[in-house]
Amino acid sequence: MNGNSFIKEQLWTSVKYKYCQSCEKAYIKSRLEKDKCIYCNQPCETVDVKRNGTYYYGYALMIFGSGSILVPKLAAVSNPDVYLVMGIVLFFVGTIYVIMGSVKMAKTAADMAADSEAASTAADSVESEDDY
Ligand SMILES: [Zn+2]
Repeated sequence: MNGNSFIKEQLWTSVKYKYCQSCEKAYIKSRLEKDKCIYCNQPCETVDVKRNGTYYYGYALMIFGSGSILVPKLAAVSNPDVYLVMGIVLFFVGTIYVIMGSVKMAKTAADMAADSEAASTAADSVESEDDY
């Protein structure tokens, strides 16, 4: 495995979250944001959270659902409504799973930030360079 595919894998499997102690909010960090809370502008923790199984499962269902909706458009089937209804249901359930996965990830981010906060107050905090 070369370095390039490793980086791609990292991007695909983990998400950078920011956790603000003052707002008690965990949210996905966008590329250009500094390590400051977008709500209150206080310094906040940045943690890498792995995407969990629920999240992937939700995405799979959504893709499967969209595929099912497209079937009657691409092929002549005797019961297009069944595909359509099944597709909508799968897509809807998939969305719920993705949201549940995201909620879990935000929770994980908050836990990780709380842990690293405890660790960094104990030891002298190491200033890390911006990783971009
Ligand atoms: Zn904040």
